[in-house]
Amino acid sequence: MLEKDRIFNFEKIDVEYVAHILSTDKYDQELFEFANEVREKYVGKQVHIRGIIEFSNYCVQNCLYCGLRRDNKKLTRYRMSLQEIIDRAKLIASFGIKTVVLQSGEDFSYTTDDISYLIREIKKLNVAITLSLGERSFEEYKVWKELGADRYLMRHETANPQLYAALHPNDSFEIRKSHLFYLKKLGYETGAGSMVGLPGQTPYDLALDIAFVKELDADMIGIGPFIPHPDTPLANEKGGDLKTCLKMIALARIAVPTANIPATTALGTINPFGRELGLKWGANVIMPNMTPNPYRPNYSLYPGKICVFENDTACANCVKQIIKRAGLIVSDDYGYRKKEVVIAL
Ligand code: SAH
Ligand code: SF4
Repeated sequence: MLEKDRIFNFEKIDVEYVAHILSTDKYDQELFEFANEVREKYVGKQVHIRGIIEFSNYCVQNCLYCGLRRDNKKLTRYRMSLQEIIDRAKLIASFGIKTVVLQSGEDFSYTTDDISYLIREIKKLNVAITLSLGERSFEEYKVWKELGADRYLMRHETANPQLYAALHPNDSFEIRKSHLFYLKKLGYETGAGSMVGLPGQTPYDLALDIAFVKELDADMIGIGPFIPHPDTPLANEKGGDLKTCLKMIALARIAVPTANIPATTALGTINPFGRELGLKWGANVIMPNMTPNPYRPNYSLYPGKICVFENDTACANCVKQIIKRAGLIVSDDYGYRKKEVVIAL
């Protein structure tokens, strides 16, 4: 029997036990059911849609797993103009989608003022704004928060400090942590999360990821499979599997019951039903790709990324279908994190 009290609503996660759950399939059905029970009670059946604009694929970082890494010379790079970005945000708002996510590689050619301008303009559209620009300066985070940016998404990638260091030249888990805690302190809804199936990653490491999102009290938790990219040093690695990702989503839901958890595009890439299953295993967010062509296929974090052919109306409708197929409801509010109400299960 799954010992629910060892994973639910404790100040600290029982890392050994979570690692044990991840190492066997004997609790899978119970885990699935428990995650659903927690979802139902804490966030209900509503699923939030966030339109994502991947506005630049230039990156100064060299993360070993990522197709946008600086040393990938095979990639055709692009930068969208501020006006192009604003036009896309307008399109997203016109679909009734209440959150615009601005994502890019770490590209400092967009200055503090550029991003400030985007925030001011996009805020006029009555939408929530999520930034996902990688590690920027603490001062910038503050300026952008004051201008009305609502959320910041920056996965912690892995909570094993050795593995983090091996995958991120010139960066450390300590640094990543300090950014995330600072964002949280500034009042951003802060998103962390990790990849599943990184080289050498153990069930214990994955359990540390769950413990970390609990420690941070992450408002958003993005979990997806690592998918090896042919033009990176990790080209020949194996990558993450669907079941482990689904179990991680369930564990994240149980560990941080009110968090907003996306059924990620990477999950939809390794399995045609990946996103629908993600929603069934505890996720409550879906993020249709709203990057325009000709840029969209060049935001290739990993190979085989779904939805590279631009058809915006179809994308907006497709995610709604996925939500319905999962037996859930399309939310039409801003999708801020729900306040915690402690409910006995
Ligand atoms: N530069 C920003 C945002 C873009 S990267 C940042 O790093 O935060 C967005 C996410 O893509 C990363 O957090 C990482 O978890 C994911 N990603 C990158 N390469 C990947 C790969 N090969 N497989 C799966 N996910 C990947
Ligand atoms: Fe750049 Fe983000 Fe890719 Fe790292 S994961 S190389 S920071 S785009």
